Amino acid sequence: MKKIIVIPGDGIGQEITASAVKVLRKVDAKFNIGMEFDYRDAGGTSYEKFGTPLTDEALDACKKADGVLFGAVGGKKWDSLPVHLRPEKAIFGLRKGLGLFANLRPTKVYPELVNSSPLKPELVGGSDLLIVRELVGGIYFGPRCESETKDGVEQAWDTEIYSVPEIERITRLAFETARLRRGKVTSVDKANVLAASRLWRKVVVDVAKNFPDVELNHLYVDNAAMQLVLNPAQFDVIVTNNIFGDILSDEAAVIGGSIGLMPSASIGELTSLYEPIHGSAPDIAGKGIANPMGTILSAAMLLRYSLNRSAAAAVIETAIERTLADGYRTADIFTDGFKRIGTDEATEIICNNI
Ligand code: NAD
Repeated sequence: MKKIIVIPGDGIGQEITASAVKVLRKVDAKFNIGMEFDYRDAGGTSYEKFGTPLTDEALDACKKADGVLFGAVGGKKWDSLPVHLRPEKAIFGLRKGLGLFANLRPTKVYPELVNSSPLKPELVGGSDLLIVRELVGGIYFGPRCESETKDGVEQAWDTEIYSVPEIERITRLAFETARLRRGKVTSVDKANVLAASRLWRKVVVDVAKNFPDVELNHLYVDNAAMQLVLNPAQFDVIVTNNIFGDILSDEAAVIGGSIGLMPSASIGELTSLYEPIHGSAPDIAGKGIANPMGTILSAAMLLRYSLNRSAAAAVIETAIERTLADGYRTADIFTDGFKRIGTDEATEIICNNI
């Protein structure tokens, strides 16, 4: 049996994870995968029950699982809590506890939604890229100083540190992932200025020697940011450090048109975690109108990367494409002339397309 821990979390997290589990059950029956679902709490929901955003028991259950499907956490109700009790702490707890060292964010521009993109259709059409971001190193985790005085002037600093094993690990993952896709890796750095980027580039080139079937090129981050809006279709897999990945993945996310559609995977040493990129959307929670597609596509990533079931993942992706091609739209992507559907209806249509 493959054990999946489902963490609905707060707000629309409850609705969208319920949808994704329905879809996974349908795929499980079709492909005989043998999936078992077990539920845990996180975020505000966990705080209400247990007085903490993430219990040790929930984290332990995730460590033992074959994959974790996560909804979203957060809400106004818990905004005034002390930092260590806030819902977002659950995310950091899971990242750290599961050793989630890489974040994978695909951006695909569906032909049916090409007009929802803020960019011109002729620029974004056919884009299908994946950003592989290093998640536990670099400047976000390096030594820092909040304030010191030097020569009578206040200053602050952060440090970008990367070791060879850290770069090797994320690079290998990027190349292995590219092999499951179109076989192209773009490494993004700032090697013309930063020492840590020069080491990054050297290690990427070394690791690439083990993947002669995968094409490699390098871009400076400023150019990569430009290329993402000028010609996003040129990219397959982009691999980059923590801070550049943070910025570029948000830039790439808007190309697709709606955050309700965007999935993500955080790859761990113990277990990997799959979640949509959006938050708990308190403004629409409980109304039955949330777009479940980002979470359902995250479930497809779980099948591909944690259960090695690429065919089952592709069936889900095709079912979503067909739902869009048939003219069904949730509120976030609805425009005149299409059929407006809610969360449950979208789930049912996607299941029927499987
Ligand atoms: P959000 O992503 O929750 O919502 C932004 C906007 O997008 C809202 O108008 C929302 O209605 C809409 N939206 C988001 N997902 C949608 C979906 N699936 N279908 C249709 N519309 C959707 O971001 P926010 O409003 O800035 O944050 C709300 C809460 O979520 C905050 O507490 C924040 O801290 C939290 N948050 C959590 C995560 C996470 O759990 N990983 C990520 C981001 C924000």
